[in-house]
Amino acid sequence: MDLDLVALLALQEKDRVVTANEAELKALEPQVAALDDELARAENELGSARKNVEDAGIKRTELEGKIDTYRIMQERRRQRLEWVKGAKEAAALMAELDLARGVLAKEEAEWIRSADKVEEAERKVTDVEQAAEEARAAQAPRREQIVALQAECQERLNLARAEREESAKAVKKPLLGRYDRVRGGNTPLAVYALQGTACGHCYTAVPIHRRQVIQNGQGVTGCEACGVLVYDPAT
Ligand SMILES: [Zn+2]
Repeated sequence: MDLDLVALLALQEKDRVVTANEAELKALEPQVAALDDELARAENELGSARKNVEDAGIKRTELEGKIDTYRIMQERRRQRLEWVKGAKEAAALMAELDLARGVLAKEEAEWIRSADKVEEAERKVTDVEQAAEEARAAQAPRREQIVALQAECQERLNLARAEREESAKAVKKPLLGRYDRVRGGNTPLAVYALQGTACGHCYTAVPIHRRQVIQNGQGVTGCEACGVLVYDPAT
């Protein structure tokens, strides 16, 4: 077999190892993304639970302000009642006091409900915080495993790339250029053995004059149909 071809096939083998390692490394990415998504969902839930506490707190504070104002007004009515002279005026003021007492009682009941809501929202935050913490802890071993796998895979990839570069030196420049161009396309490999008289990739017949190019010692020829380099395994 032609020495150029031997060097080219050796390079292709190294490239297969590089590609396999790259694919393995890439396959880990969705796993990390899935773990990240899970934590992001927990964080989102925590964010909205905290927002609920804040909103419930604002509502409670508003009610407190309202109740304070009502109480002050009620106190003024009581003071006025002490100074009032006419019975008619006193009766009107008493009616006003009664009415306001009812309103105040309603607001106070509302305040109790709002205070319950704050507590409920705070409990929810505690639950969600715990769930997020548990999710993080549950992920830790898998994350460690992935990080170790990534490091190991990266190391293999670096080694494979170095070996690839070394092998590339043995291939003559024009042939290497051709090989790299074909490899940049969308066929899995750049060099295929002839299958009988057909291209080993697309199975289109390779014309006799092209096969003669191979037999005349040029080692490879291009497939007219798919563009890959073909060689004759028998030579
Ligand atoms: Zn072909």
